[in-house]
Amino acid sequence: MPWTYDPQNIFARILRGEIPNKTVAETTHTLVFHDIRPHAPVHVLAIPRGAYVNFDHFAAEASAEEIVDFHRTVAQVIADLGLAGPEGYRAITNSGVSGMQEVPHYHLHILGGRVLGRLVDPA
Ligand code: 5GP
Repeated sequence: MPWTYDPQNIFARILRGEIPNKTVAETTHTLVFHDIRPHAPVHVLAIPRGAYVNFDHFAAEASAEEIVDFHRTVAQVIADLGLAGPEGYRAITNSGVSGMQEVPHYHLHILGGRVLGRLVDPA
């Protein structure tokens, strides 16, 4: 398997309650909380409770229940934060070196509250 999970990563520590977070929503399989260094008026992070390194790890190995719970929880948060409909938002995930992933626990960034610009800077 190409994925090696580091149980000492900061989001694993948040999930164990060792580090506080500003929770937006939580379910059996999913936690959503405010990013500590927001890049937009709304910037929350959705993470599965399971030990998955990145998106492709989660998509390949999480159970159907975890995957459905994660996405339905994100959709509910998007609605609750007033981002659904024409207002809109951006959902992004980073992985590895090219993606400049900082925390090696799968997370989806949900950003909104302003026009966010182009997705990627021109090289
Ligand atoms: P990445 O670059 O891995 O996609 O994003 C990691 C995100 O985690 C960054 O936006 C960073 O601000 C956020 N982050 C890092 N440490 C903490 C923390 O201790 N608490 C919270 N709430 N967010 C964090």
